[in-house]
Amino acid sequence: MKKPMLPKAAPRGKSQETRMTTQYQGRCHCGAVRFSLYCAPISQALQCNCSLCIRRNAIMSEPYFGPDAFQLLQGQEALHCYQWNDLVISNWFCRHCGIYVFHELVQKPGHVRLNLGCIEGLDPRALAIRHFDGATLI
Ligand SMILES: [Zn+2]
Repeated sequence: MKKPMLPKAAPRGKSQETRMTTQYQGRCHCGAVRFSLYCAPISQALQCNCSLCIRRNAIMSEPYFGPDAFQLLQGQEALHCYQWNDLVISNWFCRHCGIYVFHELVQKPGHVRLNLGCIEGLDPRALAIRHFDGATLI
């Protein structure tokens, strides 16, 4: 497996500058799948009511993150993919603990929307949640 190129975390407490990026760590429940996310502080989230999302009940990241922001650190072999409907999205979940971790655009590999519940130290329910009407649109 190719070793992921990790971005460097912004230094803390040594500068007056406002850093616009935060490094988050995330994992599935059992820890087989681990990732890091390097992005602006997360303040918004997305929930969708399509037939898949309503069942997994995940609070997801609003944007898709590209390979510059999202790095899978371990667990490639633990990830299983579920596709449905028009197969434009790969839904990745851990085959050990069953947790949905992220989904990926088939047309843009490496671009993912994350299950924010997998991010350490982040309370997804405290975020401003936008409700996406996937049930009507998908
Ligand atoms: Zn797991």
